[in-house]
Amino acid sequence: MIDKLVIIGVGLIGGSLSLALKQAGTVSHVVGCGRNIDNLKRGVELGILDSYTDSITDAVIGADVVVAAVPLGAMTMVFEQIAGNLGEKTIVTDVGSAKGSVVEAARQSLGSRFRQFVPGHPIAGTERSGVEAGFATLYQNRKVIVTPTPETDAEATGRVIGMWEACGATVESMSIEHHDKVLAATSHLPHMLAYALVHHLSHLNEHEEIFRYAAGGFRDFTRIASSDPVMWRDVCLANGPALLELISQYQEEMGRIANAIEQADGDRLLKLFGRAKSERDLLIGNC
Ligand code: NAP
Repeated sequence: MIDKLVIIGVGLIGGSLSLALKQAGTVSHVVGCGRNIDNLKRGVELGILDSYTDSITDAVIGADVVVAAVPLGAMTMVFEQIAGNLGEKTIVTDVGSAKGSVVEAARQSLGSRFRQFVPGHPIAGTERSGVEAGFATLYQNRKVIVTPTPETDAEATGRVIGMWEACGATVESMSIEHHDKVLAATSHLPHMLAYALVHHLSHLNEHEEIFRYAAGGFRDFTRIASSDPVMWRDVCLANGPALLELISQYQEEMGRIANAIEQADGDRLLKLFGRAKSERDLLIGNC
């Protein structure tokens, strides 16, 4: 049970967390914090928040759990502002899509409270953002990754795991480096591909026709290009090295496909597509 939960950044991820915990009956009072008072008022109307403030520093006084749910580029500012007002037992966690940069920012800013910080990342989301986007079932049957450091207090980690389990999620633990490498491949690279494809096609003379005749496959593949540009700028800046390595490997892969087409090498194309199909069918399921 969490008596006072503070959500800094009441958007899709923070708002959904509050709704899920309220539905599970495991939180008494949720305070929202952000820059835009109209958003926070809307959060109260939607039943996401019980109260709100635009002062991050004041919000965390007396909190049991503080969740930083802002874009990655704003995490340092959040940690700097909360550091002085955290209680001895207050647990701090985050939901950022890359972990190395967030943990470094927390280590720099939180001082002796760093051990109370449990880095987290729910592997759930949609292309929508903002306070209206949240919904209570977002985390049901989804995974959440925690990346505790050797300094992280084990009891704090246990409470954060319990919080996510109350939302219906399964929690796994891994190292920060491993998380950033795996997520660069499964989430960050696909977003780059979707943004690049839509951006590229939108510059072609026939772009209106291209989008008019777009069928299901194109819509499926590019859905995530409707995601929040600020969030994805920050992910690129936060997880640059892992992402760059994958982009370079992907460019080589595209080069191999282009080469096979140039050489009219149907066998090579068949082999490549066949292998990709069976890998996907095996690993993700033919759904
Ligand atoms: P979101 O819907 O845009 O919500 C973020 C909230 O943070 C906004 O409502 C905004 O509220 C506040 N905010 C934005 N910039 C801020 C700033 N500079 N300073 C203070 N507050 C700021 O974004 P989200 O999708 O929930 O993502 C939040 C975090 O979750 C990110 O770190 C992201 O990496 C992570 N994440 C996202 C997904 C996903 O699929 N979307 C999945 C997993 C993890 P105000 O305008 O009122 O300040």
